[in-house]
Amino acid sequence: MRYTNPHPNEEPAFRVQRKQVLRCAQHDNALGLRASAGCPLRTDPKFSAIYNAVVKTWDVAIVGGGIIGLSLALGLRKHGAAVLVVERRKPGGEASHAAAGMLAHCDPHTPEKLRSLAMASAQLYPEFVHELEDESGQQVDLRREGSIILDGNGQSLCRDAQPLNQQQLAKLEPCLADAAGEAEFWPEASVDPRALSAAALKAAKHRGIEIASGAAVTAVQVTQGRATGVKTARTHFPAAVVVNCAGAWAGQIAGTPPLPTRPVKGQMLSVIAPRRNFLRHVVRGPGAYLVPRSDGRILIGATVEEAGFDKRTDPSIIQSLHQAAANLAPELGQARMLEAWAGLRPGTPDNLPILGATCLPGYFVAAGHFRDGILLTPITALLMTQVVRGAKPEFDISAFSPARFGS
Ligand SMILES: Cc1cc2nc3c(=O)[nH]c(=O)nc-3n(C[C@H](O)[C@H](O)[C@H](O)COP(=O)(O)OP(=O)(O)OC[C@H]3O[C@@H](n4cnc5c(N)ncnc54)[C@H](O)[C@@H]3O)c2cc1C
Repeated sequence: MRYTNPHPNEEPAFRVQRKQVLRCAQHDNALGLRASAGCPLRTDPKFSAIYNAVVKTWDVAIVGGGIIGLSLALGLRKHGAAVLVVERRKPGGEASHAAAGMLAHCDPHTPEKLRSLAMASAQLYPEFVHELEDESGQQVDLRREGSIILDGNGQSLCRDAQPLNQQQLAKLEPCLADAAGEAEFWPEASVDPRALSAAALKAAKHRGIEIASGAAVTAVQVTQGRATGVKTARTHFPAAVVVNCAGAWAGQIAGTPPLPTRPVKGQMLSVIAPRRNFLRHVVRGPGAYLVPRSDGRILIGATVEEAGFDKRTDPSIIQSLHQAAANLAPELGQARMLEAWAGLRPGTPDNLPILGATCLPGYFVAAGHFRDGILLTPITALLMTQVVRGAKPEFDISAFSPARFGS
């Protein structure tokens, strides 16, 4: 039969695949209840014939194609949901592109309420990466060499942290200058967030998740007191459930309970390592951190600035980060700079993410991951998949509820 496009005016920039997704227009928002709500099965040919011609709807519309939105889409898709990700620009192009990719679950600066989630997410990482690499055929550079901590800035949350004397430090990382104070080894990992987002996007497409890129969601559509889809400037996408994964921009969607997310700017640079295996560990020192990638790049970060939605880099700040890196590893002073950039961390008033159902039925949030969104990706995808499906999440996430902001 012929397929009638229900959105004849949509932007040419859309890259929504025109694959048929058969949905029941009236089904309940809790995906687990769909069958009991009397919705015919997707494979029922009679149902296909009737509904395909009339309307195209999704089980879940996700606003924002950063690493949080993409990995949640994958989690929901595994349970059979028809998922659409609506991304205003390029998937994975914002904070998830800017991040250093430290999986810093031992960091004592992690807010106390977030620590068990951070630990659990670090444990999920190897399997999460394995699945993504397997499905996408792309490597994401998960490195499990550990971190060397030189800033003496608090006691590790990991029991197997080890103090390092000068000799041990020099043996582990000969490129480092003699540490003035204490040094410790923490059993942390790192990942390349750009590769991670690219792999998640490829896996999402492979699994039949639809991606509408170049489409900014302007509002959530509300019908009879519940979310029923998302609106862009030129069209709307009907969905039984909407999840806001719009990072620092999560508070900008009209027609929804307010979310107090804000951008927290971070400037960084990358240089080419002077030689192969120059640096193996992540190094966190005074003034800068160093994150080695397996392809020979070394990332140097990062500022933490309240500067609104400004992503410009300041050459003098980049220069001072480069200098701080050279103070840690003197040869980096001569290392050629590859790139300098800035990104916007999704901050919240209490530095905790916002996870869960809002007071608007059918409308959920997974945003505000601030400095740890790459680390928290696997656990967010797992828990939010459970919440959206109407199941009890395996961790108590009440501390992250939108209700704490009256939403
Ligand atoms: C310099 C820097 C260093 C960092 N280092 C680390 C680190 O080492 N480890 C770590 O764990 N975390 C780190 N982070 C934090 C991490 O990057 C974030 O917490 C994480 O990427 C958040 O992911 P997200 O998907 O929520 O947000 P984003 O990646 O920003 O994705 C949100 C997406 O929503 C889209 N969007 C926004 N509004 C709309 C709309 N109206 N309609 C449609 N789409 C919309 C945006 O275009 C964007 O693609 C760092 C961040 C920065 C900036």
